[in-house]
Amino acid sequence: MARREVLDRIEKYVDPFRITKGKGFRLNDFDPSDTCGLRLDKGEAADLLQRGTQWLAEEQDMLYAQKRWSLLVVFQAMDAAGKDGTIKHVMSGVNPQGCQVFSFKQPSSEDLDHDFLWRYAKRLPERGRIGIFNRSYYEEVLVVRVHEDILKRQKLPPPLLSKRIWDERLSDIAHFEDYLTRQGTIVLKFFLHVSRKEQKKRFMERLDKPDKHWKFSASDVHERQFWGDYMHAFQEAIRATASKRAPWYVVPADNKWFTRLIVAAAIVEAMEKLDLTYPTIDAKKSKELQTARTALSREK
Ligand code: ATP
Ligand code: MG
Repeated sequence: MARREVLDRIEKYVDPFRITKGKGFRLNDFDPSDTCGLRLDKGEAADLLQRGTQWLAEEQDMLYAQKRWSLLVVFQAMDAAGKDGTIKHVMSGVNPQGCQVFSFKQPSSEDLDHDFLWRYAKRLPERGRIGIFNRSYYEEVLVVRVHEDILKRQKLPPPLLSKRIWDERLSDIAHFEDYLTRQGTIVLKFFLHVSRKEQKKRFMERLDKPDKHWKFSASDVHERQFWGDYMHAFQEAIRATASKRAPWYVVPADNKWFTRLIVAAAIVEAMEKLDLTYPTIDAKKSKELQTARTALSREK
């Protein structure tokens, strides 16, 4: 199949989940178990994903060679939605030298001595690299919004703690992303949208299987109580920060194979749009190569 044709197909699958305008966005319009009518068995899905990751690896190689653009891929989700597995599978073909993964957990006291974007800004990808944020600055308008005692620990001067703080933070994030895109960083944001029912099933599996016990955390179950608050916070975040330049993808996450395909496809699609090529060399460099060739061939 021609590349163009494959891309057209990819676009058809990715389009319904891409949010470029936040106004009127409603999470309820999205079904976590959606598979766009696709029904693939494990083998077929793995085969398709492998082709996607190979394509991604080719794009990444050119991105790295050019050292102009960079890619920031943000993953946000409720627990057990599959962030870790998606990152592992989608990035499996990519050269580790060109890719950095950062997982953001509770902030340190040094982090709390700075503005809220500080610790994330330090981890942004260099030119030519893909940076993956496993959780990100969005936690500052998600977990911190759901549990306001966390906000209290952020040491903000009291007059700045107004009701408008969430709108202000969201606006700061939107501007930050505008700034990044104007610097040549492509920003893609994935919300892995799992249902509450599927999350319960996955927690149960973690409890049932000894090799999954390490993944289980009682606090994850505790957070389920705040499901509605989280969904509200996610909806508000997507509304305020979805843009053409830094789109959100609301990816159905009840079927892991589908989540991975959509994420891989969205990244490939975004990189294809950059029309990447290997850098060409100038006359001087060309002469240098010629001289090296002559010198090498003269060697005994
Ligand atoms: P996994 O459970 O797969 O290891 P995880 O990302 O859930 O991955 P945890 O160590 O379980 O990692 O959880 C990290 C916790 O840190 C999450 O509950 C998250 O909400 C919280 N967190 C992240 N950023 C912040 C922040 N800025 N302020 C407070 N809590 C945060
Ligand atoms: Mg966790």
